[in-house]
Amino acid sequence: MAKTARRKLKDKIKKEVDIIIKERDDYTCQYCGKRVSGFDCHVSHVVPVSKTKLLEFDFQNLKILCFRHHIHWWHKNPLEAGKWFREKFPDRAKYLEGRLLEKPRPIKMYELRDLYEEVKNYKPTLTVSNTKPESGRIVKGPTPREVKISKEEKVDYSLEARLKKHEEREKMPS
Ligand SMILES: [Zn+2]
Repeated sequence: MAKTARRKLKDKIKKEVDIIIKERDDYTCQYCGKRVSGFDCHVSHVVPVSKTKLLEFDFQNLKILCFRHHIHWWHKNPLEAGKWFREKFPDRAKYLEGRLLEKPRPIKMYELRDLYEEVKNYKPTLTVSNTKPESGRIVKGPTPREVKISKEEKVDYSLEARLKKHEEREKMPS
């Protein structure tokens, strides 16, 4: 059966969102702190999609867990897991509680299109340490903003490049 346009778009969004979440959580199980990759690296929902489809791709609603803590802990002990999440991420828990007051509904097609544009062009926050001038200091040469832009331009943010970078890092002996 041919995939619907909606399904295809959601698949593309999921691919982008998954890597954004993996990078944000640094490929680390948020519960046990273990570094994870491949099949052990699970992008897990806080509020399940079965409860509301509205938060399916919301970064605040996603987290990295290892296989064990996703399948055998998060889904087996919902009360304990929920308590853990509220304690570890109080701001996110509060935000999600607020979003749950909204009437559950699927994400509309135009919202999916906007979301895809957003995640496709998403740039992870870079730490550029040498661009912040001390207050009152006269900065010669390019302004900090110019320095920052030129540095960012050198980074390949494509999904493929980021996945490749991660794979290379995994191969390196620690
Ligand atoms: Zn774990």
